[in-house]
Amino acid sequence: MDAKELASFKKTLLFLREKLVGNVNSLQGEALGKNRQDAAGDLSNVPFHMADLGTDNYERDIMIHLMENETEAVRNIDTALARIEKGIFGVCEVCGKKIPKARLAALPHAGLCLECQRKEESEAG
Ligand SMILES: [Zn+2]
Repeated sequence: MDAKELASFKKTLLFLREKLVGNVNSLQGEALGKNRQDAAGDLSNVPFHMADLGTDNYERDIMIHLMENETEAVRNIDTALARIEKGIFGVCEVCGKKIPKARLAALPHAGLCLECQRKEESEAG
């Protein structure tokens, strides 16, 4: 993953974190208003196929997912940000394999690859 992609993930993670910790109002105007106008420009920084998904749906889906467990989500985002700083972002914490970018796009704070995540969930449940 190159620096530009990491920067893009970092931006997304920080943005989601801000939303989660409650600075919703100030950011909402920015996100839903201004950024929409800049969507074409913003998407050039996004390494995936978010253009196809539509930014609104993309963000909403992530937020719905995150809001299911806000505290844990903030913690996961902090962990992901720390992993970016350490240069190990996008690598599965368990098996050390690269986490597919499509998964990171859908779940920027994912610390596990899908396989390990499933294993963990089945063990927990
Ligand atoms: Zn794994």
